[in-house]
Amino acid sequence: MTDGTYIGIPTFLRIEAGALNNIGEYLKVNGLNKVVIFFGNGLIDLFGSIVMRSCRESEIEILEYQEMDSVDIDNVMDLAFSIPNKTKAVIGIGGGKVIDAAKYCGFIRKIPFISVPTSSSSDGFSSASASLVVDGHRMSLPAKLAYGIIVDTDVISTAPERFIYSGIGDMVAKITALYDWKYEACSGVSEINDVAVMIAKKAVNSFVRVPNDDIHSTIFLKELLDSLAVSGIANEIAGSSAPTSGSEHLISHALDKFLDNPQLHGIQVGIATYIMAVVQDHRYERVDKVFSATGFWDHVKTLDIKADDYIRAIDLAPSVKPHRHVYLHEEAYREKAKDVVRNDLMVKGILK
Ligand SMILES: [Zn+2]
Repeated sequence: MTDGTYIGIPTFLRIEAGALNNIGEYLKVNGLNKVVIFFGNGLIDLFGSIVMRSCRESEIEILEYQEMDSVDIDNVMDLAFSIPNKTKAVIGIGGGKVIDAAKYCGFIRKIPFISVPTSSSSDGFSSASASLVVDGHRMSLPAKLAYGIIVDTDVISTAPERFIYSGIGDMVAKITALYDWKYEACSGVSEINDVAVMIAKKAVNSFVRVPNDDIHSTIFLKELLDSLAVSGIANEIAGSSAPTSGSEHLISHALDKFLDNPQLHGIQVGIATYIMAVVQDHRYERVDKVFSATGFWDHVKTLDIKADDYIRAIDLAPSVKPHRHVYLHEEAYREKAKDVVRNDLMVKGILK
């Protein structure tokens, strides 16, 4: 848990249409006039000229820029120590990988990290940890929350729809994660932080109530990204990922361990969220309603996701985080979850 005396939250948060055009201005007002930029694969072609022009207009000196696609710790460390000493900010522009790599570079070098996600696939852009490959295994390493978060909702809107659905799944997951955290606290295994609960709850409640018939609309995407960003801050307050990650995340992490080609994080998490909401007998109608209205369920139906894989993942779930005690750490609830996978009409309709 945090010692209660210090938490690091982002200094600036710009989530709006056209934000990428103003990146130079945001950097300038924060005094970050010498920067290193890492782009995801293929993204210099897409966004390079917008970013360069904006930086030039605001007299931001780009010391270095390059594309990168590796989250291998050795590559990330090499990169971190290639960053010039006079760098005022490390900017990561792209999907989960480049965000994690740039975040870790900034953390290692004690240079402010600016998170610029170009898709909404998860809450990684606003989390304090970085998912990197260490000795061939994907690991979540402690890092620091971004100093600044810049999200252009126009860019998010043009990313493939599956990324928006993944973000929706990862956001709705806070419903079951929070319920799990309370359950865990009642078991005496952890302590609830009331402020973290309130913030994460407000984020998810605000999101599930936004008009959701058009997932490309600015209002919907802004709400989604705002809520994901706020959830990251709830984790920072809690000093752990407990406010945003419960049984539904354990199922997804377990799937990642044995599937050759796992689905996007938030897709796996979203399906598991519905299953766990039924197990918890808490707000599963709301989860279903959001997934139906946004087209999440229709998207999932087009994927070849196997019920047997979910059954296996439920059995493995407690071993993913043995130190926690959420619903799936109890045998009876694992049985109930497997029963939901086998017999719930909604789940039977979407899994193969
Ligand atoms: Zn997640």
